[in-house]
Amino acid sequence: MTVPDITIAIDGYSSTGKSTFAKLIASTFGFLYLDSGAMYRGVTLFAMENGMIRDGAVDEPALEAVIGGLDLHFRRDGGATTLWLGDRCIEGEIRTLAVSGYVSPVSAIPFVRSFVDGKLHSFSEGGRVVMDGRDIGTTVFPDAELKIFMVADDNVRAQRRFDEMVAKGQSPVFEDVLANLRERDHIDSHRKTSPLRQAEDAFVLDNSAMTLEDELIWIRGLIQGRFGILS
Ligand code: C5P
Repeated sequence: MTVPDITIAIDGYSSTGKSTFAKLIASTFGFLYLDSGAMYRGVTLFAMENGMIRDGAVDEPALEAVIGGLDLHFRRDGGATTLWLGDRCIEGEIRTLAVSGYVSPVSAIPFVRSFVDGKLHSFSEGGRVVMDGRDIGTTVFPDAELKIFMVADDNVRAQRRFDEMVAKGQSPVFEDVLANLRERDHIDSHRKTSPLRQAEDAFVLDNSAMTLEDELIWIRGLIQGRFGILS
């Protein structure tokens, strides 16, 4: 039996739990999960490590000169994926507050967006894919079979991100985490190229007061109704 191609696009504000939700869909319904934000974080880490971010400003000509040759790729491990820069797994390094502080200006650069879009398309050819980000349902996969837009209260989001960082052994300051996510939301929603916005045909999920179990019940109804897939 051939498996029909299905793309599920999950967009929304920072730290609304998009990746946790996308991974839950991937493991429950047998989709491949791709994290588009990881790609933007990977480009940002590369720029930081190579002196292309100085005094908070991105050296765009220097980055543009080398981005085409950047060996940034996902490796598949069953349904899960990790991000690699050449032979180095950078999954941990891309999640620090330092990278979070620069990722929105880097991802607002048009040539960075087209580089990442190309990579996302080549990694998601065929099959069942769930991808999360800011512009997946509007720009990267405007014909996605199912689009979800996630929102949640600012303080709930900051607390979740704070707890995650503490669990990883980092020592964040709550106010810094809150300020970072508000700043990223602002830049992401106001940039010229592919700003964060809700696709007209997206279903909104406000998970401020939901557990993962609630979210699973919600998505199960949608997926079964739309595609007839049972988990
Ligand atoms: O999802 P995550 O918070 O890891 O994404 C990091 C950043 O990458 C976002 O704040 C946003 O600036 C950028 N991004 C984007 N478009 C996407 C995914 C992420 O601009 N599709």
